[in-house]
Amino acid sequence: NLNPKSHYITKNEIIPIYKSRNKWSHKGTYGHSLIIGGSFGKIGAVTLATRAALKIGSGLVSAYLPKCGYNILQISVPEAMVEVDNDAALEYYNFKTKATIIGIGPGMGTVEKTALGFELFIKENKLPLVIDADAINLLSINKSLLKYLPKNTVLTPHPKELERLIGSWKNDFEKLEKITDFSKDHNVIVVLKGAHTIIINEDNKYINSTGNPALATAGSGDVLTGLITGLIAQGYEPINAAILGVYLHGKTADLALQETSYETFTASSILDYLSDAILDIF
Ligand code: AMP
Ligand code: MG
Repeated sequence: NLNPKSHYITKNEIIPIYKSRNKWSHKGTYGHSLIIGGSFGKIGAVTLATRAALKIGSGLVSAYLPKCGYNILQISVPEAMVEVDNDAALEYYNFKTKATIIGIGPGMGTVEKTALGFELFIKENKLPLVIDADAINLLSINKSLLKYLPKNTVLTPHPKELERLIGSWKNDFEKLEKITDFSKDHNVIVVLKGAHTIIINEDNKYINSTGNPALATAGSGDVLTGLITGLIAQGYEPINAAILGVYLHGKTADLALQETSYETFTASSILDYLSDAILDIF
């Protein structure tokens, strides 16, 4: 594509985005991510996103989830702080955590009380957001909430979630046009996940070069949510966090295939190979 606003994301585009660490920095320098999600039977999704925010380098990470997931999260991710809501599904969203960025959606479900609480949360929230999974579905059910999203909110739909949000499309051209309009109308960044994930910010399109079908596995998207959230915590602009997060997420699977099979790669493997993916930038 010769459109100057289309960019193909390879290592050359990633090198200038990546920020190295300052010797005199401390954990406060790298922000505080809050991951919100989970419901009975889907505590793994919020656990994976929380672990991913830590692994990408967020200085502090908190999770807010239903009480039934408290022990699971504390034991799975001892580095994280945890606050809890009602027993089996989110309802009150009454966390005290002083976070700098919120990633919301993995595993949270769409039952009525979760939806009602989400509406109040979105209306009152002042923090930057990364919105995924069922939080996207709740926005699709109640589109009047879109006007409350902070500028440069990052939405990470897979194609089904996108369709619920913007309606269906006849072909790829119309799909891109519809996402562009949506991004402009609501001042948001859309990360359309797929074999070649496309990041759309108004007229700009960034097409990712990394990744392979090893990523077609449960929890893969939940990890991406945590990565993008943890990058924004560290001071990356949301668009750069989306680009770098998507690139590294795909790169883990590419590097893994040098020594593992497609089938045995799981969402946790993304985090096992994350260090290799970061080191490969240099
Ligand atoms: P989700 O459907 O929310 O779990 O997200 C799936 C994640 O895996 C997204 O980041 C996709 O881009 C990625 N993914 C799924 N299938 C493929 C594929 N065939 N090639 C590359 N990446 C993929
Ligand atoms: Mg998902």
